[in-house]
Amino acid sequence: MLQTTDFDEFSRRYGHLAMAVLHRGDLHKALLSKLQDVIIRTGMECVGAREAGDRIVLHFANGDAVEADFVLACDGIHSAVRKALFPEGREHFARYTCWRAISPGVPRGMDPARLSESWGASKRFGLAAIPGDRVYWFACCGAERTDDPALARLDLEGIKAFFADFHEPIPEVLARTPPASLIWTDILDLNPMSSFTRGKVVLLGDAAHAVTPDLGQGAGLAIEDAAVLAALLARLPSERALREYDARRVVRARRIAIESRLYARVAQWRNPLVVPLRNFIVSSIPERFMDRQLDAVLDIAFDPIRTAA
Ligand SMILES: Cc1cc2nc3c(=O)[nH]c(=O)nc-3n(C[C@H](O)[C@H](O)[C@H](O)COP(=O)(O)OP(=O)(O)OC[C@H]3O[C@@H](n4cnc5c(N)ncnc54)[C@H](O)[C@@H]3O)c2cc1C
Repeated sequence: MLQTTDFDEFSRRYGHLAMAVLHRGDLHKALLSKLQDVIIRTGMECVGAREAGDRIVLHFANGDAVEADFVLACDGIHSAVRKALFPEGREHFARYTCWRAISPGVPRGMDPARLSESWGASKRFGLAAIPGDRVYWFACCGAERTDDPALARLDLEGIKAFFADFHEPIPEVLARTPPASLIWTDILDLNPMSSFTRGKVVLLGDAAHAVTPDLGQGAGLAIEDAAVLAALLARLPSERALREYDARRVVRARRIAIESRLYARVAQWRNPLVVPLRNFIVSSIPERFMDRQLDAVLDIAFDPIRTAA
């Protein structure tokens, strides 16, 4: 373990909740609890989108077609809407892969207020306590291709063996993990795009700007998009609101995409001569200095929305 992050410290510094770790299911529940008079249709796979005059037609796998005045596409990194209407969007393989799971109980000696990453040669392991006395962990290793059959075969026992030389509490957390909770994902991001809007179609979240998870900002960016867009649409005519949305979101997302890629590259280095040097340098950097590097990411002011108003 070379560095840890005390996320309460960020909140103290910025005077607002700067970082929180929570289970995706809990986030869904929180969002759903705020919705009123909204119809949600599940099982609707969008397979295409086209413009028809000033309307947009969405096609679904079950044969349905829906005509809309306005489309907010938040269908993730493989967005069908983006692929249909934004030819600029290109997925990019970050040359590493990741397993994730939740394990019950926080091991003794693990500080629940700190995130940690432990780095080896082309492999790393991250730990974060989440509400409900549970630990979220991720384990990454370098990969030459997506859907590598050898990596696809790796189960929890394989991961335990792969990280057997990592320090406690990693073996303990792995030992507690239910095998069925394991999720495997190749890490892709999107090459930064110059616009997230086309007419009255707007991309939000990973559909617009999937970033590698290295700075832990993908979900945060998606939530920011929604907050910014909602605030702008409430105050401005829709055409201007969309222009302002692009102006505010494209630059921020690009910066985080580039920084995340850079971080990923260094974290996944495998050269046996370079890795010890990297580890020495990273572990020697004072925590305060490392934290300052995240200021541009975490200390975001939403003042521009008020200015637009
Ligand atoms: C290994 C890993 C670790 C990560 N760690 C972090 C982290 O620590 N912090 C962080 O902030 N972010 C992290 N992320 C990124 C985060 O998961 C994403 O940025 C976030 O989920 C994006 O939210 P979204 O709503 O835009 O897209 P998604 O969460 O991908 O949601 C897209 C939704 O659209 C649906 N959908 C997809 N295609 C279609 C279709 N054709 N038709 C209809 N519906 C469709 C999907 O079912 C899904 O419900 C991580 C990602 C990975 C892979």
